[in-house]
Amino acid sequence: MSVTERILNYQITHGIFDGEEQMVRGIAQRAVDNGFASLSSRQQSVIEPFLTQSCSGITDPGGYHNECEQILMGEELLEAYELCDDSESLECESCRSDSSFYTHQRDRLERE
Ligand SMILES: [Zn+2]
Repeated sequence: MSVTERILNYQITHGIFDGEEQMVRGIAQRAVDNGFASLSSRQQSVIEPFLTQSCSGITDPGGYHNECEQILMGEELLEAYELCDDSESLECESCRSDSSFYTHQRDRLERE
């Protein structure tokens, strides 16, 4: 399975397509089963918007949201899905590292 099919497989199993029309879900499932390349260009254009997501950004300990809008696709998107707690709010690599820094900082403050 290529990255595209793995992303779609993740999206199907995590309910990303639940709010979509049956037809859209069917095409996504077909892409997972037979490969994205097997879809017609019309079908691919239905699925393509799902393959590009943007980072939701993170909020720092001071309550400031960084308004990150980094575009996630391919390996980066798959990784974001695999590491996220909530598939509706994805974080890019830079936000993930900031976020773990804040967590680390907070843990240290709590220990002191
Ligand atoms: Zn980000």
